[in-house]
Amino acid sequence: MSEIMMQSTFVIPQPFNLINGEWVPSRTGRVLPVISPIDGTTFAEIADSDAADLESAVAAARQAFADGPWAKLTATERGRLMIRLATRILEEVEPLAQLETKDNGKPIKQARTDMVMAARYFEFYGGAADKFHGEVIPFLNGYDVGMHREPHGVVGVILPWNYPAQQIGRSIAPALAMGNTVVLKPSEDACLSGLRIAQLAVEVGFPAGVFNVVTGRGDVVGKALSEHRGIDFISFTGSPEVGTLIQIAAAKNYVGCTLELGGKSPQLVFEDADLAAAIPVLVNALIQNAGQTCSAGSRVLIQRSIYDQVVEQLKTRFEAIDVGFPDEAAIMGPVISAKQKQRVESYIADADQPVIARGRISASAPEGGFYVAPVIFGPCDPDSKIAQEEVFGPVLCVIPFEDEAEAIAIANGTDYGLVASIWTRDGARQKRVAKALHCGQVFVNNYGAAGGVELPFGGVRKSGHGREKGFIALHEFSRIKTVVNYYG
Ligand code: NAD
Repeated sequence: MSEIMMQSTFVIPQPFNLINGEWVPSRTGRVLPVISPIDGTTFAEIADSDAADLESAVAAARQAFADGPWAKLTATERGRLMIRLATRILEEVEPLAQLETKDNGKPIKQARTDMVMAARYFEFYGGAADKFHGEVIPFLNGYDVGMHREPHGVVGVILPWNYPAQQIGRSIAPALAMGNTVVLKPSEDACLSGLRIAQLAVEVGFPAGVFNVVTGRGDVVGKALSEHRGIDFISFTGSPEVGTLIQIAAAKNYVGCTLELGGKSPQLVFEDADLAAAIPVLVNALIQNAGQTCSAGSRVLIQRSIYDQVVEQLKTRFEAIDVGFPDEAAIMGPVISAKQKQRVESYIADADQPVIARGRISASAPEGGFYVAPVIFGPCDPDSKIAQEEVFGPVLCVIPFEDEAEAIAIANGTDYGLVASIWTRDGARQKRVAKALHCGQVFVNNYGAAGGVELPFGGVRKSGHGREKGFIALHEFSRIKTVVNYYG
């Protein structure tokens, strides 16, 4: 059962930070335990760093950016290095995935997908590095005006624990493609795959100081990074609460930031939907990664004429879900930590809405692991706490609606706006509803599009701002300088 965890072919120096191309211990001498959600045991340690460690990383990144080797590479050469890194990640999908599953608890198949996606980001942005250009602006006679695209400088990247490797690709690859250097503060709850990817970057020849990693606590290292005056741009993925702090810190230093925050994403099912296609997708959009996905489809809005029929099918599927050891057969593994398990369970216990169905925790789930059985609540009051707040666990709310106008009002009726799906065969309705929804991505008769590296992603309001993924991310990770040349 546990052999899938034991085939790692590499050793990450621990508990070290990666600063200026070298593995260095934290100056604090302190460590944090790395606990596997599978059984609650400690199996590794990471550095419990502080602001002084961060100082060295920022200095290294500044040096590499200003007059170091990174600045001397052409965009093509940067892109080649990134594609080399993508290739190395692809060569190591299996051991990286095993490490991720042990560290994060996600089913091994999902972990493999995450590694392929991480590689895809470096491949996509590596290929784009020399294809994203400035412009020439037609102006008055005698003037030559160029709009030059430049890197920000040193980008601070702060990441959560739910898709650690994918998120490195999503935030760091476009930053590097545009010529920035990076200081990464990964999540203290899951960061080993990230440390390995950084190690691979050094191995394939990234110059020292280009990609630095400092591990530690959010309120220490994360805070210091967000407030550091040597950081020129911040890419933050995480909770809205911390996102607010990041935005304040960025404002105080007059730098920009992207905030990729939470969601309470609606899936709208109209009476003409192809239910055979919709039902499995509706379920998977919630239970993937044990509900710990920012874009989880955690509210299913169902037209009243088909409500009973859809609920019956969702119920059958939920009751068949066995949560257990995250091996080849697993659909759902544990949640990330004891704290997260407690958070999700208290949302479930406190919910004042009817329960439709619960999954079960299988006998394969090891003692001490952080397993939570999935639950469907419904019919939910759209304004109830469980239907409004992000649980970040396997909790689905179903809500009936009468007509299109009510469906749109409920869908837009939370503080969040990350993604949404619309299930209908009516082409005009597809367009009307997609236009009316307040969010960053709308999927019509599908959900998530397998991660879609090419597809711009981001939220509105409490889901954040700025866009990552796709070519548009290259705008975020660069800035424009207008050069006006008068030649008479
Ligand atoms: P979190 O906000 O608690 O932590 C995210 C990161 O911020 C971690 O590295 C943490 O150490 C750091 N941090 C904590 N306090 C900090 C502070 N005071 N200053 C600076 N950094 C600090 O979030 P989490 O629990 O790791 O992740 C869950 C949240 O992330 C959910 O809300 C989820 O929706 C969101 N999320 C969003 C996306 C997206 O793309 N929109 C993707 C994944 C997760």
